[in-house]
Amino acid sequence: DGPGKRSEMGVLPDEVWGRIALRFGERSLTYGELAGAAGALAARLRGAGRVAVWATPELETAVAVPAALLAGVAAVPLNPKSGDKELAHIVSDSAPTLVLAAPGAQLPEALGALARIDVDAAARGAVPDEAASEEDPALIVYTSGTTGPPKGAVLPRRALATTLDALADAWQWTADDVLVHGLPLFHVHGLVLGTLGPLRRGGSVRHLGRFGTEGVTRELNAGATMLFGVPTMYHRIAEALPEDPELAKALARARLLVSGSAALPVHDHERIATATGRRVIERYGMTETLMNTSVRADGEPRAGTVGVPLPGVGLRLVEEDGTPITAYDGESVGEIQVRGPNLFTEYLNRPDATAAAFTADGWFRTGDMAVREPDGYVRIVGRKATDLIKSGGYKIGAGEIENALLEHPGVREAAVTGEPDADLGERIVAWIVPADPQAPPAAEELADHVARRLAPHKRPRVVRYLDALPRNDMGKIMKRALVADA
Ligand code: ATP
Ligand code: MG
Repeated sequence: DGPGKRSEMGVLPDEVWGRIALRFGERSLTYGELAGAAGALAARLRGAGRVAVWATPELETAVAVPAALLAGVAAVPLNPKSGDKELAHIVSDSAPTLVLAAPGAQLPEALGALARIDVDAAARGAVPDEAASEEDPALIVYTSGTTGPPKGAVLPRRALATTLDALADAWQWTADDVLVHGLPLFHVHGLVLGTLGPLRRGGSVRHLGRFGTEGVTRELNAGATMLFGVPTMYHRIAEALPEDPELAKALARARLLVSGSAALPVHDHERIATATGRRVIERYGMTETLMNTSVRADGEPRAGTVGVPLPGVGLRLVEEDGTPITAYDGESVGEIQVRGPNLFTEYLNRPDATAAAFTADGWFRTGDMAVREPDGYVRIVGRKATDLIKSGGYKIGAGEIENALLEHPGVREAAVTGEPDADLGERIVAWIVPADPQAPPAAEELADHVARRLAPHKRPRVVRYLDALPRNDMGKIMKRALVADA
């Protein structure tokens, strides 16, 4: 085995073999035990073609996926919270031969026809020889379904390895890193970054089962070095900090606080910075591309930016007519297009969607709009489809208006959309969850607040009040549901 032993994804030095790789609640596995459990399962999976993984936030999921990688079979992580209709769609689309699940897990009817293998985290077997080539599919991950029905992104082993090595470089991962993990395991964030990520350099994963600020405090106090979260988690942290000095002290101790999957509101970033002295760094990725940009561990964290392209990632901004934007002026808005070894190969069974997603010269169209600042930092403005409002001859990004609204003390949550308007083309609509439902801030007051902070043409013309914003399992705001309800 040369200088070190093979883990699921890379070569690790011998001294990590006895250390804890994964801990979920009371249960943990050392690297040696993980290799044994994954090796034993891999021996049963050889030749299985494609396997579904019932991706509960449990140790078994974190064994099943490395086992599939070792066996050279593609894994399709399933969201246990999906409804029957969505599950049935994913199962018929991806056609797995069997499903891997934790022994106690109750599987829904939609999976009834699939053979089941219970994952035994206590099994011990030999790690099989490398079974696959780098271009073979490792994972088929369904997109979050924020803008339409989820699409299955086929991710080759090469893409996983590339993105994890790029993050290891940007975030200076070592075998001493311990991640506090409170994310689900069926998407890229929780599975690729949060589970396979720390293992790539011999670090350790502490999964909270369910995210909570007490768990974050406990694990950081016990020596964890990193926290990965989605913006809704950092929002909960920001809300808890004024009452929880222990949480503030624990966060101040962390080496890296990382946010991704959606934009981190500036208001939450600033509140956390004020209370802890630490700035959250943001990274930007997609199911299809894995990670594209990040603020580096040795870089300058700045609210509202996602940093610079990761090593190996080509990134450009492109105008509507296809002209690349070369100015780093912080103002010229274009679609982010990327290329590099971090990309997926195709959308499963959707050759038309795959073809439409790439330009003639091979760049992937992300559908996200951004500007570049003079120092090269990428600032995402929003999604082309839902966050760019064309009003009165201006192109206005929803994100900055949302950030302004969130700074109003009477606003708990905010989302901004456009809707057709006879005069303006589109008018700006603000969807507000008031901090106090008994005393919501008046529409006029919110519009003036935005106009004062940004510009008069960015004032919302319509304000609608809600009890909560529609969000998916990753905490992303489902704008298409908002607009459909209007
Ligand atoms: P679907 O493609 O099914 O509509 P989705 O795009 O939300 O859903 P994902 O692949 O999970 O599915 O999410 C990728 C998207 O998340 C990106 O295209 C981008 O819009 C958003 N995103 C990820 N990280 C960030 C970030 N740091 N800041 C802003 N947006 C982000
Ligand atoms: Mg998408």
